[in-house]
Amino acid sequence: MKDFEKLREECIKEVTHLGIKLGNISSWNINTRAKSRWGLCRLNPDGSYAIEIASRLIEDDRISEKACKETIIHELLHTCKGCMRHTGKWKYYTEVVNQVYGYNIKRVTEGQEKGIENYESQEMAVKYIFTCGKCGATIYRKRDSKFTRNYRYYGCARCGAAAWSRKTVG
Ligand SMILES: [Zn+2]
Ligand SMILES: [Zn+2]
Repeated sequence: MKDFEKLREECIKEVTHLGIKLGNISSWNINTRAKSRWGLCRLNPDGSYAIEIASRLIEDDRISEKACKETIIHELLHTCKGCMRHTGKWKYYTEVVNQVYGYNIKRVTEGQEKGIENYESQEMAVKYIFTCGKCGATIYRKRDSKFTRNYRYYGCARCGAAAWSRKTVG
C-alpha cells in the first residue's frame, strides 16, 4: 500500500518546480471500480478539474511508486491550460518531465509496463463535446452511446433544458 497523499504532493512539487502551472484541482478520487484505466482528468463546468486514480495503482505492491507517480503526473498535466488532449502542450510537458526526472509518461501505458500483467489500460481521447445552449454546461464523451446519438432529447442536469449542441473533436 502506497502513501497516496505523499506521492501526490511529490508530483505536484516536481511539476511546479519546472515552472509548469497547474489548473485548479477541486477533487481527487480513488476509483475502486475503474478496470479499464489508470487515471482520468475531467474538466468541471466551473473550470476546475477532477482527477481520478485507480485504487489498484496504490494498493498493488507490484506496481512501483514511480509507476504510480507517472499516472498522477499524466493526469496533473491535463489540468494545464490547453492540455486536455494528448497532443501539443500536454505532450511537450510530459517530454520535459520525463527528461528531467527520468519518468516514462505516455499517452497509454499497458499493465506490463506498470509491473503487472493482464491489465489493460486504455485512455481514450474525448470524442464529443456537448454544450447546453441554455446554461453553458459542458460535458465530454469518449465513446458513442445512447446519449451521444439522441442528445437532442436529453435534459441538462443543471438547468433542465433540452438544448444540447454537439461538437465532434476526435
Ligand atoms: Zn491522459
Ligand atoms: Zn443547462
